[in-house]
Amino acid sequence: MKTFLINEPLDMHIHLRDDDMLKLVAPLTSRDFSAALVMPNLVPPITSKQALLEYKKRIKQACRDDTFEALFTLFFKDDYTYEFLEEIKDEISAIKLYPAGITTNSSSGVSSMDTKTLKPVLDAMSKLDIPLCVHGETNGFVMDREKEFMPIYESLAKAFPRLKIIMEHITTKEAVQLLDKYDNLYATVTLQHLLVTLDDVAGGMLNPHLFCKPIAKRYEDKEALLNIALKAHPKLMFGSDSAPHPKHKKECCGCAAGVFTSPIALQVLTQLFETHNALDKLNDFVSLNAQKIYNFKPLKKTIKLIKKDFKVPNFYEYKDEKVVPMYSGETLKWSIEV
Ligand SMILES: [Zn+2]
Repeated sequence: MKTFLINEPLDMHIHLRDDDMLKLVAPLTSRDFSAALVMPNLVPPITSKQALLEYKKRIKQACRDDTFEALFTLFFKDDYTYEFLEEIKDEISAIKLYPAGITTNSSSGVSSMDTKTLKPVLDAMSKLDIPLCVHGETNGFVMDREKEFMPIYESLAKAFPRLKIIMEHITTKEAVQLLDKYDNLYATVTLQHLLVTLDDVAGGMLNPHLFCKPIAKRYEDKEALLNIALKAHPKLMFGSDSAPHPKHKKECCGCAAGVFTSPIALQVLTQLFETHNALDKLNDFVSLNAQKIYNFKPLKKTIKLIKKDFKVPNFYEYKDEKVVPMYSGETLKWSIEV
């Protein structure tokens, strides 16, 4: 096969940041995707209608692309009122919950995952049909954090059966198993978690550009994720979790968590699905599943992939900063026709 078409590609978990970084990375997403679900963990996080509308405006200006739609999330707080949520409902696609302090800019997240504390807001969201996206990690040992969060997902899924709960960026076989246990549980998976394990991050020379939260796990976890992605499991969506940081914040002591994948995601996914003879499932994985789960029709946009070498740039640049993508300097087998 020499060409492959992806219709209405969707990235259901993206960090577009703000200011100059936003101006650099937003056009890279709007070029390749029809829509993307933008995460709200800025400093301060997006928790009001005014902050949301202003961020929307900045993103629209940065994208400069009329075949791209940014979808928005609000940063979960357990004291939102029903009236507030009803008023903001049409401006957002979901609300994102972070346990406090678990990842980049999440210090104002929720400190208790107790279903009683969360009940008023989650009842309101169920009624208003607003999906809940969750960064599912505890404060436990780094390799066990996601696994330890599974009982919390179960208690949420049971207590709020009408709430759509999306387990964001799943990284373990335990999360894969849980996906089929409750009708109202869904998941996103990133590019890097289909490709790397902890060995690639820290097994040899440390690779800070593959360091992210949740951290890449074991071989059997990666295989479990890859298996349901290649089948385009109907409850699984692509969400890159592309999370750019300036190079000096990655290549240092105290390396920031996040892998920057948006400019290479579709090329690498095409290569990966081709290798596994699963190209016929790629459109479901990267678009149709999310359309059904989020119940929306994206803008028409077809991305044509060509089997032609693509040398990934060493870095992308803005002002005096550089941002290093995954596979920096390496050659991929597929490129996007421009
Ligand atoms: Zn994220």
